[in-house]
Amino acid sequence: MQFYSTNNKDLRVDLKEAVVRSLPADNGLYMPETITPLPETFWETWRDMPLNELGFHVAKQILGDSIPADALKQIVDEAITFDAPLVPLSPQLQILELFHGPTLAFKDFGARFMARTMAYLTKDDDKELTVLVATSGDTGGAVASAFHNVEGTRVIILYPKGGVSDLQEKQLTTLGGNITALEVDGSFDDCQAMVKANFLDRQLMEEHNLTSANSINISRLIPQAFYYFHAARQLPEGTEPVFVIPSGNFGNLTAGLFAQKLGLPVRHWVAATNINDTVPRYLADGNYAPLASTPTISNAMDVGAPSNFARMKNLFENDWESMRENISGLAFDDDETRQAIRAVKDQTSYTIDPHGAVGVLAAEAWLQASPEDICIVLETAHPSKFLPTMEQELGSGPVEVPERLACLSSLPKVAHAVSNDPKEILTYL
Ligand SMILES: *Cc1c(COP(=O)(O)O)cnc(C)c1O
Repeated sequence: MQFYSTNNKDLRVDLKEAVVRSLPADNGLYMPETITPLPETFWETWRDMPLNELGFHVAKQILGDSIPADALKQIVDEAITFDAPLVPLSPQLQILELFHGPTLAFKDFGARFMARTMAYLTKDDDKELTVLVATSGDTGGAVASAFHNVEGTRVIILYPKGGVSDLQEKQLTTLGGNITALEVDGSFDDCQAMVKANFLDRQLMEEHNLTSANSINISRLIPQAFYYFHAARQLPEGTEPVFVIPSGNFGNLTAGLFAQKLGLPVRHWVAATNINDTVPRYLADGNYAPLASTPTISNAMDVGAPSNFARMKNLFENDWESMRENISGLAFDDDETRQAIRAVKDQTSYTIDPHGAVGVLAAEAWLQASPEDICIVLETAHPSKFLPTMEQELGSGPVEVPERLACLSSLPKVAHAVSNDPKEILTYL
């Protein structure tokens, strides 16, 4: 399988270049040159396979022969060691729990697959690989956990000062070893811009063997396609779900579009955002007008210029009409989100995190107009990652902090304070 740049379909590279270099020199994003529907034989057995086997077939279909089948099987087996169950709030409104991995957010799927894929692709290189990653919350923790102690790699994480929750920060700053955390005096968009600026310097990149772990990296999106299949097969046979996706950088939604291209029947996509609503506004009027991000209680979605938008446009061949026929955009503010957290608790006794709550609001709005549809809302993180907000709305009782997160609170934070100047990173290379 070859990969092309969204800025130039004639620029083709192999999997190693796409994954290890992450970004093409023309500042586009890599895309698989084709995504072919899964064969008949897959559809005969897909409902009954274990999740890791399902994942293997999906990854194989996208990657072709780029990784030999036995190596790919091992990567998926080692990466996907936890489930993604569907929990009904009502027959029409289903919650896909994506927080059963080690760092309690869906990002574990992408990060764990990426770390193992990168390690496989660079196993014969002499130079250490340096992973540079900006995080608005959950990416950093997932990436740090996925690469921690992976030989031949180190990770530098940039996060916005005061822009992530206490426990999220602990996930970034307590591992030590090959993981370095930089606390940036700026926004998430600043962090992302700092990473991008260094990636555009090819010489620097090659000298330090730099790579990225943001959702701009194609290897993160591939395993995110797995759970769309897994969600759909937990519904009665023949159901075509509406997927409702709490979105920030739109990697999750892009992976869903990959799943659809692989042949998964999907009735419609709903992109749910907080007030950082660049994509819903684009879908409404066809005018792409990114803004600086505004902080909200669903902080992993505080993105003003979503990086995967270029991939979405590419998949719809720059056709706004066709994108909005398939994707609806809905945005909600913090007051509505807080209300939804309480309402879900009162009506169903389910505890939903602020990101999932934005999704529930969007699903409810969708079901008002189309009450026969079945919506699957992606619950992108465990509520305990946002404890202060959850306790404000529900009191201190209902949110249990899983042991793998709780044990971090007593560990000391180790982070380096830096300004938002891209050159700050050079000190740490
Ligand atoms: C990363 C993240 C999102 C946004 O996902 P994108 O793929 O960037 O759209 C939503 N919710 C949570 C909890 C996240 O960590």
